[in-house]
Amino acid sequence: MTDARTTGISSDCADLIQQALQAQRSLFASGKTRSLTFRRRQLQQLRASLVAAEDDIFAALKADLGKCELEAYISELALVTGEIDYALKHLSRWSQPRRASIPFALQPARGQVVPEPLGIVLIISPWNYPLQLALGPLVSAIAAGNCAIIKPSEISAHTSALLAKLMTQTFAADYVNVIEGGVETAQALLAESFDHIFFTGSSAVGQVVMRAAAEHLTPVTLELGSKSPCVVAADANIAVAARRIVWGKCFNAGQTCVAPDYLLVQKQIKDELLAAIAQTAADFFGKDMAKSPDYGRIVSDRHFQRLHTLMTDALASGKKIIGGQSDPATRYMALTVIDQVPPAAAVMQEEIFGPILPVLTYEDLGEAIAFINQRPKPLALYFFSNDAAQQKAIVTQTSSGGLCFNETISQYAVPALPFGGVGHSGIGAAHGKAGFDTFSHYKSVLKKPNWLDLSLRYPPYQGKLSLLKKLL
Ligand code: NAD
Repeated sequence: MTDARTTGISSDCADLIQQALQAQRSLFASGKTRSLTFRRRQLQQLRASLVAAEDDIFAALKADLGKCELEAYISELALVTGEIDYALKHLSRWSQPRRASIPFALQPARGQVVPEPLGIVLIISPWNYPLQLALGPLVSAIAAGNCAIIKPSEISAHTSALLAKLMTQTFAADYVNVIEGGVETAQALLAESFDHIFFTGSSAVGQVVMRAAAEHLTPVTLELGSKSPCVVAADANIAVAARRIVWGKCFNAGQTCVAPDYLLVQKQIKDELLAAIAQTAADFFGKDMAKSPDYGRIVSDRHFQRLHTLMTDALASGKKIIGGQSDPATRYMALTVIDQVPPAAAVMQEEIFGPILPVLTYEDLGEAIAFINQRPKPLALYFFSNDAAQQKAIVTQTSSGGLCFNETISQYAVPALPFGGVGHSGIGAAHGKAGFDTFSHYKSVLKKPNWLDLSLRYPPYQGKLSLLKKLL
């Protein structure tokens, strides 16, 4: 077959994609990808390839995002190998058929729910965690017995090229195929019929993906962005909160889908918290963050310009606490904390996805909850407080993809916690068993023996209803 792992696909894009799909359909139809031994071997090979390529992965992520090695390791490489280890550990249990109970009137019979792979799945990934957001879903797709085509982001070009190279070395193209390219390539892929589309990216493109999927009635998982609120109550441990907020906001220079987007602070502790945040930022990154080897860069000029406009606008309407420095040449932007930002400001209207932290205040928790509930349901919600009653109010009175108490962003790293949005922040879930379920169909199987075949259910029905009513 022709290998469609081509960069810069142009006019023959559709042909190459169709050939790639055809090859995968043949492999899937052979049944080879269904065997648990096969799935395990592929996961082990993927793990070995990634571990062997650690230095290349670090270099590519440094080139794309200025990512330091520690962040690259914990948020990209170790997350994928962790997902692989978790899947290898649980695969036999996940893939077992489950027994289903049978109502008395349908006895004798056996009921089973049997997980089966969907077929050929399309994974479209973004640039902010370009390795992990392409390979995390791939681990689940392989574990569930599927073939996959990955379309990584054109913006994280170094990591996407490395990803294509690694997958070519690790897998046959009729099993896992990386097709690089931009919007045009994504749209050519979306024009084809897949058995599932797993998309991670912006809400606007999520709508494009869902529209295209509707043409083929293809099920979708949409992992989207949102404005994730970070609420800090008066009883919070201020020093710990400041550290975890600065860490979660500055990780990958704020370009994290679950980064705390804005602060909602209980009024009486605002000054103390903001002073602690300023001190923490200096402790973590020094007086000049631009010189810190641990602080990343904005991915592209376009995103830098977008963030610069948001920052300038917010600084004009609010009060700067720290930050404001930036350099378009290196795409550096300091952590910029801005107090007294009006809720109508542009920075409070869209997902920030960068190191700008607007600060708003609330008097009592009901006000904070109302503020959150007046906006689209976020991907993550963070609440800093040890008060059980307030924690319960947050759990029961708000809705979000995930929720952390006294923590930011770490929920993503727990394979046993399904990861996904709700409402505008996404559809479906990833990681661990949830990821396996996403790429599986749960087939209901009813098995009847022939030795008993009561005439009660067959026509003519006359005189049978009253007896049936007693049985059902
Ligand atoms: P994006 O939506 O611009 O791009 C994502 C992918 O879609 C890329 O591969 C891109 O080539 C493709 N694409 C872009 N425009 C397209 C179009 N018109 N038609 C078809 N495909 C198209 O997102 P991004 O800028 O790469 O990533 C940032 C966004 O992703 C943020 O909103 C962030 O919150 C979100 N995100 C969500 C998660 C999550 O797990 N929920 C994780 C990371 C990022």
